[in-house]
Amino acid sequence: MDAIFLKPGREKSLRLRHPWIFSGAIDRVRGVPQPGDTVDVLSSAGEWLCRAAYSPLSNIRARVWTFDAETRVDAVLIHKRLESALALRSALVPESETDALRLVHGESDGLPGVIVDRYAGWLVIQCLTAGADMWKDTIIDALVELTGITQVYERSDVDVRHLEGLPERVGMVRGEAAPEEVTIVENGLKFAVDLRSGQKTGFYLDQRLNRRRLGQLSAGRDILNCFSYTGAFSAYALAGGARSVLSVDSSSEVLKTGAQNIRLNGLNEEQATWLDGDVFQVLRKLRDQGRSFDLVVLDPPKFAPTVAQVEQATRGYKDINLLALKLLRPGGLLFTFSCSGGVSADLFQKIVAGAALDARVDARIVEHLSQGVDHPVALNFPEGTYLKGLILARM
Ligand code: SAH
Repeated sequence: MDAIFLKPGREKSLRLRHPWIFSGAIDRVRGVPQPGDTVDVLSSAGEWLCRAAYSPLSNIRARVWTFDAETRVDAVLIHKRLESALALRSALVPESETDALRLVHGESDGLPGVIVDRYAGWLVIQCLTAGADMWKDTIIDALVELTGITQVYERSDVDVRHLEGLPERVGMVRGEAAPEEVTIVENGLKFAVDLRSGQKTGFYLDQRLNRRRLGQLSAGRDILNCFSYTGAFSAYALAGGARSVLSVDSSSEVLKTGAQNIRLNGLNEEQATWLDGDVFQVLRKLRDQGRSFDLVVLDPPKFAPTVAQVEQATRGYKDINLLALKLLRPGGLLFTFSCSGGVSADLFQKIVAGAALDARVDARIVEHLSQGVDHPVALNFPEGTYLKGLILARM
């Protein structure tokens, strides 16, 4: 088998079972492994460390499949990993809770670069890396066998593929007709999902538990849902007895689906208002108009995908949190999130504290939020944590 030899001392992270091998740690390569090929990884002293998927163009040059010398990387390994990923979801997410959830969460499920989401009778696969591409068919065969779901759509249209030198790829991979619109049921609420061109793989599955929490705290409140996407938080709010919900997003297309989702659930459309605009400007306008709310949601897109953008992202988070806190009535709640990998939970809390200070608003943290249980984080892979949220209560 082809092999990678590391520079002296660079095996440390692998001893901690971190699954990535960066290009700078590599001394030399034996053979000419192709993108996605399995390679052995050895220390500079020649000690065997692990088996990994090679990615010649990426800065993350290899991703670990196994730390066990006896384990081969083959269809059996893929099958076992998928079985275990599915068993975890069955154990933790009751069928009655949702028919849409993440089945495979990449490295944290022992399948580097592989994302699989279920949407009712559909699976959506997203391959992020050369290794994931190499095993795609094997993965899909096993998924169809294990889940009994026969319609699979691919949404490998993500920027990170460019870092691997891979083209974007979208389309049917199993089954006949491409999905038109899929309706999912989450905590008893229905949502229309566009698997073909919706954001992520169609829906923000990672916010399921936080949406439910919001629903529980919505009764009688006037709510502002910023970065609403297709209005999932808005539907939960109205179902939870909110008095009104104003949803803001910069995409008019997703707002249309938002209104449709309110209708789908037989909720009162008159209580829902949709505003196509830039949240940074809308918050200022609402302030100038003297508007106020009992609950504000801030769920912006990734301002800092990597550590390089952290400074700019910090300014963005501070700005919207400051404005949102000022719009809150006394006793009001702020649900504020960051899904930036480059911003830690600790930093996020500091940014929000700074925003409150500058807004001259007294608030306390009443809850810490995170991604749902179907987005687990392997202990050796802290990068798997990306979504953090706080519920603040204004004094
Ligand atoms: N809370 C949503 C997911 C939000 S995703 C849910 O639970 O489903 C982030 C959304 O922010 C996207 O829909 C995107 O269109 C929107 N967006 C990005 N930048 C924006 C901006 N500056 N102003 C308003 N919306 C923006």
